[in-house]
Amino acid sequence: MKNTLPAGFKIIKKMGLPLICCEAISKIPGFTQVFTTRAGGVSKKPFDSLNVGVHTGDNFKKAVINISRLEKSLAIKYAGAARQVHGSDVIILKNRALKFTGAEIRKMTDVEADALITDIPGLAVGVRLADCAGTVIIDPVKKTVAAVHSGWRGIANKIPAKTVKMMKKHFGSKPADLTASVSPAIGPCCYEIGADVLKLKKQKVFRGIFTKKNGRNYMNLWKGVKNLLVNEGIKPNNIHICSMCTYDNPELFYSHRRDKGKTGRMMALGFFKKKAGIKKAEEHHG
Ligand SMILES: [Zn+2]
Repeated sequence: MKNTLPAGFKIIKKMGLPLICCEAISKIPGFTQVFTTRAGGVSKKPFDSLNVGVHTGDNFKKAVINISRLEKSLAIKYAGAARQVHGSDVIILKNRALKFTGAEIRKMTDVEADALITDIPGLAVGVRLADCAGTVIIDPVKKTVAAVHSGWRGIANKIPAKTVKMMKKHFGSKPADLTASVSPAIGPCCYEIGADVLKLKKQKVFRGIFTKKNGRNYMNLWKGVKNLLVNEGIKPNNIHICSMCTYDNPELFYSHRRDKGKTGRMMALGFFKKKAGIKKAEEHHG
């Protein structure tokens, strides 16, 4: 269904780009989380206009211009998303002492993975989206941020849970300290799935994420992500879901299913800066 921005999220406009921010994360000093929309870029139909996907069939140069607009608007070194394959591999970018260039970061992330974690200040981790849920997880104590891509396969592979486990193992994160923000995605109103996916129902953690309407089965990606995160120890109140359906809001979002694969990508990303949060960046670039 058509819907508006849920409570707890706001749209800020930076250098002509509308960006959706989780208010709870905006309040944490140094941290920023944004979800892009399709507005504010240079790509032509059907990729209009802020397509950040480089393997979509869109003009490559235009996608690169869009990505650099996003980087400039946030004053970040963008980590890029890895080549997402609906798997469960997690990339860890860890070494505060190194100062990576944008090109080096792109090379490091040019591997197949569906989640990234970093503790390098100013380095954004992102995932590309067109219906799947993008989750940004931040640890204000260990100054660490993660981005996770999950469609039904990512949920089945439990990649949100695996990412939290990796934050614990490699960065010493405590789940009770973490806050997560989940992006707009194809909603349970539109995300019809096949009988094979329903098998997940047998697992306790996936209970309640499927619904049946007129003999058809639908899946709730948001609830799937939330259940997995809560199961890892993140407090339910610290999980913020931007529950807008990408399929039903074509003016704002790309939707792989609605547009039958011929569409662009949005981005969910998060980063930490020692001093500047988004307010600071606005002062520099607004
Ligand atoms: Zn919908």
